[in-house]
Amino acid sequence: MAKVLVVEDNPANMKLTSMLLHSAGHVVLPAVDAETGLRLALAEQPDLILIDIQLPGMDGLAATAILKEDPATAAIPIIALSALAMKADKERSQTAGCDAYIVKPLRYKELYAVMDHLLQEPQPPANQTTPPGLPATGQHPT
Ligand code: MN
Repeated sequence: MAKVLVVEDNPANMKLTSMLLHSAGHVVLPAVDAETGLRLALAEQPDLILIDIQLPGMDGLAATAILKEDPATAAIPIIALSALAMKADKERSQTAGCDAYIVKPLRYKELYAVMDHLLQEPQPPANQTTPPGLPATGQHPT
């Protein structure tokens, strides 16, 4: 069982995603916009975040970049959800720091497979797991 933050503005997509997560025994924290998602991520420290790329106001990739820059949330794996099967979205999601990328509509087998992978393997964000004495590559200004 994992605590999963879902940032999704479309009610039908939120319903489907929540149903799939509940079916797999996970706890869902819903957020309808990036600002709420950022607040919940800090306060609740979820095990995983599913974030829609297209959100009103701040988009999912901008929110991901903020989460990955904050040491308090950098280690939480993030799966970007895109309604557009666009290669550019995948590249942009990787640049923003997303750990995985899924194209909507969600297919439950793919969702579960990606989640299992991310939840089982400890995530090595560059600015968190660098051993003392080694340069922390994630902290270089870019
Ligand atoms: Mn959306």
